[in-house]
Amino acid sequence: MAHRSIATLAALTLAAVTLTMTAAPAHAAGANPAWKIEVILYKNTDVTYTDAGVSHHFVGTLVPAEVSRAISDATQFVNTDIPALSSGNQRPSLSVKTIDTALSNLGPDVDGGWTPNPSTTASDQDPGFDSYIVLWQSFGWDFTAAHSDNIAHDGGLTWPMGSAPTFSSIPVPYMGTDTNPQRNTLKHEWGHAILGYYDAVGAAPKPAVDNHHPETSVNCHTGQGYVLVDENDLNLVPNSIFNDTSGFTHDYYSGSTANAGDPTQCLGIGPATWAAGGPVTKPVGSPDLVVTSFGWSPTAPTTGVSVTFTATIKNQGTAATPAGTKHGVAFLVDGTSIAYSDTDTASLAPGASITLTANGSNAGGATWPATRGKHTALAWVDDVNRIVESNESNNKSASKALNVYSPTAPSSVTISAGTVRAGSVSSLAKADNINYQINSTTASTRTTTWSGTIPNLPNSTPGLQVRYKGANSVSTSETLSIWNYTTNAWVPLKTSTVGTTPSTTTVIPPGTSADYVSGASGSGSVKIQVKHTSASSSFYTSNDLLSVGYL
Ligand SMILES: [Zn+2]
Repeated sequence: MAHRSIATLAALTLAAVTLTMTAAPAHAAGANPAWKIEVILYKNTDVTYTDAGVSHHFVGTLVPAEVSRAISDATQFVNTDIPALSSGNQRPSLSVKTIDTALSNLGPDVDGGWTPNPSTTASDQDPGFDSYIVLWQSFGWDFTAAHSDNIAHDGGLTWPMGSAPTFSSIPVPYMGTDTNPQRNTLKHEWGHAILGYYDAVGAAPKPAVDNHHPETSVNCHTGQGYVLVDENDLNLVPNSIFNDTSGFTHDYYSGSTANAGDPTQCLGIGPATWAAGGPVTKPVGSPDLVVTSFGWSPTAPTTGVSVTFTATIKNQGTAATPAGTKHGVAFLVDGTSIAYSDTDTASLAPGASITLTANGSNAGGATWPATRGKHTALAWVDDVNRIVESNESNNKSASKALNVYSPTAPSSVTISAGTVRAGSVSSLAKADNINYQINSTTASTRTTTWSGTIPNLPNSTPGLQVRYKGANSVSTSETLSIWNYTTNAWVPLKTSTVGTTPSTTTVIPPGTSADYVSGASGSGSVKIQVKHTSASSSFYTSNDLLSVGYL
């Protein structure tokens, strides 16, 4: 099919717009917010478009019987089919607007034909609706070519609108006929519309259901599959994709489809999703859970350490969370849930916060055994969607970097100022209050200076981390430095004042890690210098730990 573009729009005398409001549904409103659906029905199409350089003037008209059947089908779809298909979880309302003025502005469809779209019909969409469904005439007469034509090459289209009101367009001839009464096209396109919306706001269970492929799905309760056949009112097929009570579309609108490969995990638009409301129509007063902070302990874990995660969650919504329902929080490392909290069930008032600590995981333990490397972590409140919220897409915290270093102890020590008082290099391997003690010099500025050599560190590491723990018999000035093998100089890492209380310093050397590792490739050693000074009092320093970790 040649590419077509609209060159000019037909200029016609404009007829008045007629508004027809249909009666509200006869049944009582359900507990869930009722979607407001506006059907916009164009009786006439009059468009001029260009195809392969040739201008075509096309006119189509819905005869009165087609108009009344389209309205009747839409009414039956909204008032009867949707409640049945959703197992009573959705009882929408319908407004039908019929327009005499010819539809004259179309855009391309996805198969080389033409269709009204969200922007070409924007001025006819009344505000306040959750869904717009445009019905129009695509069959008519091409006055240029002097033959009949159908300018729609798709039987129905639904646009991805994100969290905005949904939009579908359907040519009336693709809906049912007098001899084949059915609403399959409406069921299919509105199915795209609601799944697109609930996917966009994060309220639909993942993975999304594909309503083009019912054959890949089963009912998650019965395991029954579906058949890809159209049904009509005169020939109902129980497990056809469109059956109101047992087909794929029914199960999809009721949250009871499942992928055949995971047949018990219920997917689709379930009761909790319907309760989240539509693009415009929301529940009156809803909780809204967010993660306001999260972290882990210890804050700088090394390889093999058990890490405990904690998150503070807040209800920033306008209603309390239901008592007895868990405020679940999942903690993810590199995208995988490694721990969760699922013990808090007290109602959380609007504006209230609570801090929750991981108490379990899918693997059993409540803590994460840290593994070496660069990781990302995040906290995800209500990850399994137990609580209906006004916004289901703000439950995850931002990701934080979680770097886990594998620590290595020094293999040798060189003293350049001071003398050994007690202990040896092996005393530095662990923070265990077994110390390597050094006496200061005894004249002028009293000083201890020593350096540790830490072996077996890869030149290729993306990061190094220096840890030192020590105390002194008097308050001294402490400076930690690292040797730069590229510049052949000590690089100061941190200077602080440390007295008799043991102090732990964790510091990441600046710049390129390989500059601090001897040799050009493979493994080498790192040198850390520890210097303490006191202006006038001789002292000794008690060094408990020195290590260098790598990612
Ligand atoms: Zn489709």
